Amino acid sequence: MALVPMNDMLIQAKAEGYAVGQYNINSFQWTEAILEAAQEEEGPVILASSDRLVDYLGGFTMIATMVKSLVKVKGITVPVALHLDHGMSIERCKQAIDAGYTSVMIDGSHYSIAENIAMTKQVVGYAKAHGVSVEAEVGTIGGNEDGLIGGITYADPDECFRLVQETEVDALAAALGSVHGPYQGEPKLGFDEMKQISELTGIPLVLHGGSGIPTYQIQKAIELGHAKINVNTECLQAWTKAVRDVLTSDSALYDPRFILTPGKQAVKETVKEKMREFHTSHKAHLASSFNEK
Ligand SMILES: [Zn+2]
Repeated sequence: MALVPMNDMLIQAKAEGYAVGQYNINSFQWTEAILEAAQEEEGPVILASSDRLVDYLGGFTMIATMVKSLVKVKGITVPVALHLDHGMSIERCKQAIDAGYTSVMIDGSHYSIAENIAMTKQVVGYAKAHGVSVEAEVGTIGGNEDGLIGGITYADPDECFRLVQETEVDALAAALGSVHGPYQGEPKLGFDEMKQISELTGIPLVLHGGSGIPTYQIQKAIELGHAKINVNTECLQAWTKAVRDVLTSDSALYDPRFILTPGKQAVKETVKEKMREFHTSHKAHLASSFNEK
């Protein structure tokens, strides 16, 4: 099937108490691995390219063409959304939309709330006209946020409410203690604030830094309004371990096929595990109500 707007998936997920995973694309094979996992698990999936990796991957048009072609050639029937993760500017979001992405994140979290709202509003205006979903961010996610390494700043519930009211954004990443990259010790998510923000805004919440969060906290985050969970680090770690293991076990190996295929398999297995954990598996039947793009 054709790509679908992310919001269609998230509204269903929130209503039915599960979350859709966002898995970042890091190569062509990576994309194949995620799509194969979603098809085998019979669940919807969000493929994302982080803005800082877009040029490395060949640009917006190349990525959108690759994803659409793979969906077609591989006969993928589960709902697939293509999302821009941490879009750095209004212009970058527009470029992604023009190239065929069905969802974009405008990350204005490093600006004042007034500037964040103004940026998000402009992206929502352009995106809505193209049937594309928009995610915004309030607060600061810890660790390495697209090159900006910093501490955690909790999202302010009043600012979240204001942004959602004024921009009519589809989904909100409210930073509440999660981290990009590996966690030091057990994650401490702000569940009280999460409940408050979910009740105030009423829209699906997005959990960034979803790798390495224990299942009981994932479940609680879903119960408190999270309908999208972003996973990248665990896939990166699984790929690297598999490739490193094969290189270490056979020093005479020089064929990329035999070196990279175990990496692809490891990503696929990781995505399947996450889909089961987030209860995304076997939810593809909802596709009939989605607007194809
Ligand atoms: Zn993120």
